[in-house]
Amino acid sequence: QDVVNKIAAGEIIVAPVHALKELVENAVDAGSTSLEILAKDGGLKLLQITDNGHGIHKDDMALLCERFTTSKLKTFDDLTSIGTYGFRGEALASISHIAHLTVTTKTQDSSCAWKAQYGDGKLVPTKPGQSAEPKPTAGRQGTQITVEDLFYNVPTRRRAFRSASEEYAKILDLVGRYAMHCSNVAFSCKKAGESTLGISVPANATTLDRIRQIHSSAVANELIEFQTESDRWGFKAEGHISNANYSVKRTMLLLFINHRSVESSAIKKAIEQTYAQFLPKGGHPFIYLSLEIEPHRVDVNVHPTKREVNFLYEDEIIETICDEVRARLGKVDT
Ligand code: ADP
Ligand code: MG
Repeated sequence: QDVVNKIAAGEIIVAPVHALKELVENAVDAGSTSLEILAKDGGLKLLQITDNGHGIHKDDMALLCERFTTSKLKTFDDLTSIGTYGFRGEALASISHIAHLTVTTKTQDSSCAWKAQYGDGKLVPTKPGQSAEPKPTAGRQGTQITVEDLFYNVPTRRRAFRSASEEYAKILDLVGRYAMHCSNVAFSCKKAGESTLGISVPANATTLDRIRQIHSSAVANELIEFQTESDRWGFKAEGHISNANYSVKRTMLLLFINHRSVESSAIKKAIEQTYAQFLPKGGHPFIYLSLEIEPHRVDVNVHPTKREVNFLYEDEIIETICDEVRARLGKVDT
């Protein structure tokens, strides 16, 4: 059974950034206004995320890493309306099968924080011979999740990593996406033991300020505000898109659907084709697009190397968005 769990976990979590994405989403779901992220060796040695969200009750800690343990799925009906993606109560369980996981957490009504360690879906003792039960400790409200030695028991996967800096770049890319999208949340991300921050955004920054800090003022200064919606196709879109006088090295599509960072090659292709009519040859756009679509119309395919999202009325929605992009680009003075 453990082998099966380990293989299943290794299929969904292929790189440190995949584990981190789940942890960031959990922290945001917990209502946090501050997220601090640390990584060592591109996240393979250490991934740590500290939030100031609502925390986890001590009584819930024993089952935290059991598969399908979720506080976000209350009735069967919710299965079709849930706004969270990919895993359903499987993220922490999966991580515990392929890494050493430590959780320290404090809810508002608890007088102290509680710390527990997990392995293979269960609480495990910190030291041999000790009890595996959560231990009281000092701490502020919120949750700190520490993932150590990712893939320690999956040597083939571990060997597949070429460079820690490549993995760290993916981590910065992911954190940058959420730091841009989650207005009202402060984000920081750095390598453990270093003082240089890879990303640092205060809680009270506008989206444009966030883009300025995470990307550059050069990009931020060339963005057009974007917004469109359709009752017929059941969606709303907003964001910031680069104008027809500006271009980046390769297309930057920062796409969110229902506040989850996702990939859609269909949207990417259509946007590139639309911009090709405006940009000089070899030019590429920068696009931050946040879509809201009824959750039951969205489907996510998690493949070891690709996480693609599909949704109902995809062609119609993409066409509506591209029409609006054309309209906005056409309005720019050249
Ligand atoms: P899911 O997010 O699909 O519910 P996870 O395995 O990611 O499944 O998390 C399991 C549960 O653990 C969540 O439903 C939530 O109750 C709790 N949890 C995980 N991370 C946090 C966090 N940072 N703050 C508060 N609760 C959390
Ligand atoms: Mg989750």
